[in-house]
Amino acid sequence: MHNKTSVSKLEAEIDDLRRKLDALGPIHPGSVSLQYQTCGNPNCRCMRKDNPERHGPYAKLTYVHRGRNVSRFVKAGCVEALNPRLATFKEFRRLIDRWVALSIQIGQLTFFNSAQTGKQKGKIRQALPKTPRQKSR
Ligand SMILES: [Zn+2]
Repeated sequence: MHNKTSVSKLEAEIDDLRRKLDALGPIHPGSVSLQYQTCGNPNCRCMRKDNPERHGPYAKLTYVHRGRNVSRFVKAGCVEALNPRLATFKEFRRLIDRWVALSIQIGQLTFFNSAQTGKQKGKIRQALPKTPRQKSR
């Protein structure tokens, strides 16, 4: 059947993604940008009106984790250690995103349109996952 071959192709690609994910090295989210700053001292070269020379560059790492923006300054040596992790994180995200896309396709090819799962209106409440109680913080 056409569906079955497409589904097994998609599943084979997911298996491939699992292997690639498993082989990834250390990861870190974010990107590094260079920042120049003024120190506030009115006699400093960074505060000159004409041709000010700001301090820097400083390396600043920014990322979003659990919905929060995080940013911190990092030393030059740290940036070198960080770079491969940032690159690996991008690859990690790309692989996960592909996995999600393939899973959505499999869903469309299999259970969304199947007769078995189609006519069970009364069972919808039972089928839904139980809503976990909100954890108090
Ligand atoms: Zn200054």
